[in-house]
Amino acid sequence: MKEKDILIKGGDQMKRALVCGAGGFIAHHLVRKLKKEGYWVRGVDIKYPEFSPTQADEFLILDLREYENCRKALSLPNGRFDEVYQLAADMGGMGFISWADCEVLTNNVLINIYMVKSAVEAGVPKYFYSSSVCVYRNMKPGEPKLKEEDAYPALPDNEYGWEKLYSERVALAFARRYNIDVKIGRFENCFGPEGTWRGGREKAPAAICRKVAEAKLKNLDEIEVWGDGTAVRNYTYVEDLVDAIFILMNSDVKEPINIGTDEYITVKELVDMVCEIAGKKPKIKWIPGPVGVLARNFSHEKIKNLGWTPKHTIKDGLAITYRWIEEQVRKTIS
Ligand code: NAD
Repeated sequence: MKEKDILIKGGDQMKRALVCGAGGFIAHHLVRKLKKEGYWVRGVDIKYPEFSPTQADEFLILDLREYENCRKALSLPNGRFDEVYQLAADMGGMGFISWADCEVLTNNVLINIYMVKSAVEAGVPKYFYSSSVCVYRNMKPGEPKLKEEDAYPALPDNEYGWEKLYSERVALAFARRYNIDVKIGRFENCFGPEGTWRGGREKAPAAICRKVAEAKLKNLDEIEVWGDGTAVRNYTYVEDLVDAIFILMNSDVKEPINIGTDEYITVKELVDMVCEIAGKKPKIKWIPGPVGVLARNFSHEKIKNLGWTPKHTIKDGLAITYRWIEEQVRKTIS
């Protein structure tokens, strides 16, 4: 796109948003949401979205571990971005996080430091950072809810959580010193269509949908699932999560805020739900694997007080996600 087009399409009437990580799962959906809300959007990532074209007005391929590239991402011929959404990260499910600690700790710190610093230098007034509830310690089933302030004293379960907590602190320090309004969402497990579903970075709901779909389409009697099925989790459908990001960005909240639903289930219940949706009941072989924390239970008072309520139950969201993943699996075997 030429500079002239940006001047016309990204004129004074439209808010301009930069979405980092827009080739990835959540940010791809966030771009859609921002377009619906009437924004001019530039996406940036090291790759294009895998499953459907971006709706961003402009998409730049840039490695945000480089300071110069963060500056390029933020550069506009006519003024500055109104909002930056920082969702770029080297990340994946427990399978990835459990071995990629060096990559997570270096790549993501570089992205997060350079992005917020460049945003300040570019005069961006509002900045969103995608954190995670991995900043909290491990929990046992039945423990009372953890509130946002319970992230301290800090004891995250893995390096990904430590990096998220550190990057929260970086963003908050820039907000204290400079004129930038920082919002931080601590995402809980997110799932939905167009998320990674194979290759080692997929998260539990996508992995389970894939395994059940393979069992159905290849007529297999058994699937393997990590752990013993007792770990307790909640799962947020991606459209609900991007609604929450939008609400948070338009609020007065200054501190990190949990984003997730109050519907908690065990991994076994998750598997049973997927099997019921698929109409296929393979035998489950529980095998050792990187399961992560034992349980989760978080306070969602703050995000609910902003008027957010999820529109999808886990089952509603899984029905949509399973159909999409079954379609992907079908393509690989036909
Ligand atoms: P994702 O992997 O689908 O998206 C992240 C994107 O960042 C990818 O497209 C990747 O290519 C891009 N990226 C990685 N390194 C980059 C670099 N050097 N330069 C530019 N782009 C780069 O992940 P997601 O699930 O969409 O997660 C988005 C954000 O939300 C991340 O910060 C993640 O840590 C956080 N989060 C996600 C979940 C979840 O359940 N998915 C839960 C908690 C927090």
